[in-house]
Amino acid sequence: MPAEQRLSDHERALYSRQIRLPGVGEAGQLRLREAKVLLLGAGGLGSPVGLYLAAAGVGLIGVADPDKVEISNLHRQIVHGFDTLGLPKTISAAEALGEINPGLKVALHPEGFTVENAADLVARYDVVVDGTDNFATRFLAADACVLGGRPLVHGSVLREAGQVGVFLPRTGCYRCLYPVIPDASSVPTCADAGVFGATCGVIGSWMASEVIAVLLGKRSSSRLLVVDVAAGTSKLIALSADPACPCCGSAPSIRALEKAAYAPVSCSSPEPMSETPLEVTVEEAQRLLSGPNPPLLVDVREMDEYAVCRIEGSRLIPMNTVPARLAEIPQDVPVLVQCHHGGRSMKVTQFLRAKGYARVSNVKGGIDAWSLKIDPKVPRY
Ligand SMILES: [Zn+2]
Repeated sequence: MPAEQRLSDHERALYSRQIRLPGVGEAGQLRLREAKVLLLGAGGLGSPVGLYLAAAGVGLIGVADPDKVEISNLHRQIVHGFDTLGLPKTISAAEALGEINPGLKVALHPEGFTVENAADLVARYDVVVDGTDNFATRFLAADACVLGGRPLVHGSVLREAGQVGVFLPRTGCYRCLYPVIPDASSVPTCADAGVFGATCGVIGSWMASEVIAVLLGKRSSSRLLVVDVAAGTSKLIALSADPACPCCGSAPSIRALEKAAYAPVSCSSPEPMSETPLEVTVEEAQRLLSGPNPPLLVDVREMDEYAVCRIEGSRLIPMNTVPARLAEIPQDVPVLVQCHHGGRSMKVTQFLRAKGYARVSNVKGGIDAWSLKIDPKVPRY
């Protein structure tokens, strides 16, 4: 057997506890060494997936993420640390993965996973792992994998629950489950719903296990695992291909990746959007509102809340009426969105950005913070 088709003594020692598992052996370990895995997102899920795949001896890991490491990432994105704050996540992740396994090759894709590069990237890897936090990229990954004939391991987390999907070619795809991209405003994001790092660890570790199982040829059909950490339950659902699926069905409407079909909607501010921050403090909001070109302040609370207290000059558009009243929010002026504590307004801010409003920011802490820090005459409730 040529040397390149054998494990070195060093590798045998390193992976000894894994090699002895049924279905692995030296042949399985060699398969992992030959494997190329593309990680979409080096975040809460990508961190454990990347670390465990690196440690398991996967030969090449590609990391596609356009973001930089921010302090609010660190409680769950354990591949990054305080020493890499502000660095591109690709570089930060590559350092950590290289530390856990110096034999690993890491390919950086700091441009992220886009409509332009999706087909090319998918073709260069054996398995695609989707740990992204937005629907646009999630569906792009799903469609690109169907069109490119690659397995996709998907994960998502919300609050204390999550799911892991394994989608193998011709046995059911993500669109068989979710045919259309949901409206951004209909689903809370991790920025406003919150998430535990450990929940990301549960889901991410399960994703890594599935990736390894796929690489070792231990999966033969698509499946979905739904986990509720708070309730202590998990459910495994066998999937099958839907003949009416818009992507993998018998008469698919999705035959190519079209840019218009994947508008970015993300937890973290998508970079092409604008220089406008996703969120401003009440102090910054006051400075802007008393400046020469004050932004429009949109209050998205309910009418009875507005009756209790309001910030002078704000326009009341309750959250659930925003989609129908977009015409009342001009696109050509800066907009601040405010609610009681900042949760609903963040959701509306994300929604407006997805609708093309580039200069919209959330007011952090809402009117309650305003009352505490800016104007005590505004009643609290
Ligand atoms: Zn499908």
